[in-house]
Amino acid sequence: MRLAQHPKFSRWLEQVTATGGCAHPVHLTGHTTTWDTATGKVLHHYDTRDEPGERLLVRCRNRRSSVCLPCSRLHAGDTFHLVRAGLAGGKTVPVQVRDHPRLFVTLTAPSFGPVHRTTTDGHRCHPRRNADRCEHGHPRSCTAIHTPDDARVGQPLCPGCYDYPAHVLWHAHTGLLWDRFTRATRRHLATAAGLPQSRFRDHARLSFAKVAEYQRRAAIHVHAVVRLDGPDGPANPPPTWGTADLLTTAIREAAQSATVRSPHSPAAGEHLLRWGAQLDARPLRTFNDHHGLADDAVAAYVAKYVTKGAAETAAGTDHPLKTRAEIEATPASPHVRALMRTCWHLGGLPEYAHLRLRPWTHTLGYRGHILTKSRAYSTTYTALRAQRTEHQLGTPTTHHPDTATTDTYWRYTGSGHTPGAALIATGIAEDSTRNHEMARSAPPKGVVNTFTFGGPA
Ligand SMILES: [Zn+2]
Ligand SMILES: [Zn+2]
Ligand SMILES: [Zn+2]
Repeated sequence: MRLAQHPKFSRWLEQVTATGGCAHPVHLTGHTTTWDTATGKVLHHYDTRDEPGERLLVRCRNRRSSVCLPCSRLHAGDTFHLVRAGLAGGKTVPVQVRDHPRLFVTLTAPSFGPVHRTTTDGHRCHPRRNADRCEHGHPRSCTAIHTPDDARVGQPLCPGCYDYPAHVLWHAHTGLLWDRFTRATRRHLATAAGLPQSRFRDHARLSFAKVAEYQRRAAIHVHAVVRLDGPDGPANPPPTWGTADLLTTAIREAAQSATVRSPHSPAAGEHLLRWGAQLDARPLRTFNDHHGLADDAVAAYVAKYVTKGAAETAAGTDHPLKTRAEIEATPASPHVRALMRTCWHLGGLPEYAHLRLRPWTHTLGYRGHILTKSRAYSTTYTALRAQRTEHQLGTPTTHHPDTATTDTYWRYTGSGHTPGAALIATGIAEDSTRNHEMARSAPPKGVVNTFTFGGPA
């Protein structure tokens, strides 16, 4: 009531609407002035002094839907545009990229031990003719047919046989493994084209956007859009030898050959880490002609994953764990808690100090971003946000840096809403959701969450 009677209530409402009803907005005070460099004439001026509470509310920009639903939706939308621009052009990317070889690739984790699984064809979980028991007394087979909501799915048949250190160390090295994979892809392409490896960059450029997704067994797998451009990037046609078929072959070979050796540990030994045998690489075609995947569907599929934290996929928590005792209090499956304990334990060993396993216990050792992309792939989150901020502050986007000068000063003064304000913000968030229903969430045709073999290539 007090809020609604405030003389500047309507302007406050405008601000909350501009943040899309963000649950934890950041409060800024400051000013921005743009003037014509030659004449000194002020083209645009904005100061929070005239705002309600003398502050401007801006979005928290959290990508996780469990932290801030409106901002996570916005982030997913940005991701959609970012991935889509790299596939079909738009934003700063020329439309010619549509004719470049583009693949949608899924790389998986290897097996760290048998886990209960769902099947799509009515097959049993792990049938074995000679059903004996492991040294821990657990049966080595499971003849159940699990439905996706079965809590056993993703849990190991025997936790004692499951290789927890290998799982955690694999997560801790996936960044390096991805690096080796992309390098090996370039190497295979260069070899096929009869080029020395060092000259690859003079002929072609490989760019990508990838997203990490936690599987039921709490291991990530990676979905990536991979594109082959000419030497100058998206505006440049790829060389004639750079076909989608050759790129597919190069990716398959690179996924098999890329390895990382974990540092030697007196306690855990040495692990040779590689991608799993399950690999999917299929070409994207501009028109959905039943052979390739449609650009929009792929962009939407990737965008869906960036709003999920480790917590939403039941493979960790959204916040770092400070003590070992917190692991036992974490609402997670026994399997996930065992992975957390392994992270904590290995994180205390000096040979693994550089992997920072304890600070990353909540993500089961995975330190990467959920979405990563190479520089040449497409536009950036920063560019997409800058466009929106300019729009929000009413700054005309046409001011050229050569002819106009902008002086900006911002200071952080707090965050969040009062309980009354939070109620109004929630209402605004719900309204804007209804107004901006996004056509996404369904996986592109032919791609399923639980992996299937032998799909159309
Ligand atoms: Zn927010
Ligand atoms: Zn089973
Ligand atoms: Zn066992």
